[in-house]
Amino acid sequence: MSIKVEDYYPRATFQKMKAFADQQETPFVVIDKQTIADSYDQLVSCFPFAKIYYAVKANPATEITELLRDKGSNFDIASIYELDKVMKAGVSADRISYGNTIKKARDIRYFYEKGVRLFATDSEADLRNIAKAAPGSKIYVRILTEGSNSADWPLSRKFGCNPDMALDLLILAKQLKLEPYGISFHVGSQQRDIDVWDAAIAKVKVIFERLKEEDGITLKMINMGGGFPANYIAKTNDLQTYAEEITRFLKEDFGDELPEIILEPGRSLIANAGILVSEVVLVARKSRTAVERWVYTDVGKFSGLIETMDESIKFPIWTEKKGEMEEVIIAGPTCDSADIMYENYKYGLPLNLSSGDRLYWFSTGAYTTSYSAVEFNGFPPLKAYYI
Ligand SMILES: *Cc1c(COP(=O)(O)O)cnc(C)c1O
Repeated sequence: MSIKVEDYYPRATFQKMKAFADQQETPFVVIDKQTIADSYDQLVSCFPFAKIYYAVKANPATEITELLRDKGSNFDIASIYELDKVMKAGVSADRISYGNTIKKARDIRYFYEKGVRLFATDSEADLRNIAKAAPGSKIYVRILTEGSNSADWPLSRKFGCNPDMALDLLILAKQLKLEPYGISFHVGSQQRDIDVWDAAIAKVKVIFERLKEEDGITLKMINMGGGFPANYIAKTNDLQTYAEEITRFLKEDFGDELPEIILEPGRSLIANAGILVSEVVLVARKSRTAVERWVYTDVGKFSGLIETMDESIKFPIWTEKKGEMEEVIIAGPTCDSADIMYENYKYGLPLNLSSGDRLYWFSTGAYTTSYSAVEFNGFPPLKAYYI
């Protein structure tokens, strides 16, 4: 299998990124801000009725926050640290949602004191904390969804509750003098099966109706989370197709008068803007007759590529070397045998690949820098350049 640049980047964009990369020492990720701006514009034109809350965890760099701030984005925040960082970049509290359902009471208070009034929850204990620490705030309840088999990076099980429990929580929210505001879900990151949104929206519809009929509570918002695709080796539909289908599902259930719709993209906005550049440290065989070569690079699971865990995300890997290809195992530079990126899925790299050659990992703008360890084996965190 050989990777074609044109399948992932416009020629001019790639040339600009490559020219910059040629000046830097590996490993690092280079991120093209124009690509992020274009992705944001595309998302807005695909979902003109939605409010966008960028999921900061995908890449918390100030360069990205400022760009999205100027484009009018809102922000989905998971911790007091992300909050400080984003507010320091000039984002006001009314553009922020505290989307993490797992939080300390004192952190809820911190958000409230900074002016945030929109909170996710999925448990009674958290809801009661919110009622005390952030009185009167808007509450949305995250429900469990199916779809973990077709998502490359599932976000299931740990977050969300059963729809019946969501009903209970929203009724309790009202009793606790909070504002029962909406429902959220996340169908799993890099979700390749669009129909999963259909099932999730149908569940939301049932909750909206039951609350209205039985408890006189009118919910106003659906937060559809992330899950939209980036370009990796496994192909997906394009964003336009996702948008057309999801819009159809929404209209089938809610008619033309949609509630407020929130999207929380992370991966789909940022991943395609990045190229992680690494260098081959060694190429080795384990025995005289071994067919497979091991390619060790100066970047690994602990320096930005944690999403290769279980080989979940298969990044396209490109090299300038051409020629006959052979199957390889690709591993990182640390003294940990977990630091193997790809072994079962057979990547092919040229036979003449050798120490010092560069590998270009495409679509690595999201979930790389933020996941990088601070000093495992003394290796510094992944460097990033925003051009
Ligand atoms: C991680 C996360 C997102 C972003 O998901 P992507 O699939 O990267 O777009 C959105 N919302 C919440 C609550 C998240 O935890």
